Amino acid sequence: MRQKIVAGNWKMNKLFHEAEDLVGAIANAIDDNEPDCEVIVCTPSLYLEVAGDYSEESQIRVGAQNVSEHDSGAYTGEISAPMLSSMAIDYCIVGHSERRKYFGESDALLFQKAERLLENDISPIFCIGELLEEREANNHFNVVEEQLNNSVFKFNKDEFSNIILAYEPVWAIGTGKTATPEQAQEMHAFIRGLIAKKYDKETAENTSILYGGSCNAENAKELFSQKDVDGGLIGGASLKAKDFTKIIYSF
Ligand code: PEP
Repeated sequence: MRQKIVAGNWKMNKLFHEAEDLVGAIANAIDDNEPDCEVIVCTPSLYLEVAGDYSEESQIRVGAQNVSEHDSGAYTGEISAPMLSSMAIDYCIVGHSERRKYFGESDALLFQKAERLLENDISPIFCIGELLEEREANNHFNVVEEQLNNSVFKFNKDEFSNIILAYEPVWAIGTGKTATPEQAQEMHAFIRGLIAKKYDKETAENTSILYGGSCNAENAKELFSQKDVDGGLIGGASLKAKDFTKIIYSF
């Protein structure tokens, strides 16, 4: 079901006591004033348990940042979807451009990761987006369409209905260079059109499509006011409770 969502991607940041303070401050803020959106914190895996404790008592929801394509076994350092499920984790980021770039994750592998998550009732927050040179070559629509065709569009309609998409132009991630609201809307509408073509109009209307890429407390309101932008996947600005809270109330 289409939902407004603000999800924080903490990446590899915060020490344990800082993580506790941050999740506590966000939980307090949203419990005092019920937001119009689902609020998710995607913490480093070491901190999922403490964030999970807050999710039991508050409206905060917890997501992981990565998952193995395997269910169990001799994969040193990896974390599986059944493990996340056993800790009541509801969401997991898949396909972030940093995983694609630094860990060589392909669309085929990302499809397998998303498949493991869905089998364990965890919603993937599936990231897609073009590089700067691809946008400059006016190839951004083709790139995004191909990413979708090679990954999440392989799911059937029921499976796909549990996926959240995040359009994250790579040139906007951590650069301070945000897509304009018009650029975001144009791509989100394009993606929704592709979903309608692949599945049907109802599925397209029910899919949450988040924008990510230097979204912050100042620009969130305008981005979120776009018809096809259902919220944000927030990196840097999710690390400060005050900024993240302001983004949460930007609808
Ligand atoms: C991200 O990492 O998903 C992201 C959008 O980062 P930032 O907000 O810092 O650009």
